[in-house]
Amino acid sequence: MGNLIAGSPLALAIASRGAARCCLAIPGWKEDFALAVEMVAALDVTSRALVLHFAYFFPLVNGVLLPDAIFAQRAHIALRRHGQEVCKRSAPRCEVCPLRRLCTFYLRTS
Ligand code: SF4
Repeated sequence: MGNLIAGSPLALAIASRGAARCCLAIPGWKEDFALAVEMVAALDVTSRALVLHFAYFFPLVNGVLLPDAIFAQRAHIALRRHGQEVCKRSAPRCEVCPLRRLCTFYLRTS
């Protein structure tokens, strides 16, 4: 199963469980996020964006994850990969980009 909404609904479910555990202070949320990130590493951009949102952005804005060196390294890798695969300088693939609703360039030019 997959590719209905994202390449790995199971990874999204595990990331969602991690978010729920994080909100309820139930141990295991970091492991859920780590597993989900590992599962989507080789999958489509939408799956990666959704899982990375759960695993990094969600805990960061809620103050349960500090932006340490490991976070900075993972964010760097994710952004670099996004630039290589989706937001290419010569031909950005905005039609498949999960960031387009937040992207100033896209909003200005579409
Ligand atoms: S929507 Fe923005 S971030 Fe996404 S590919 Fe287009 S220009 Fe790049």
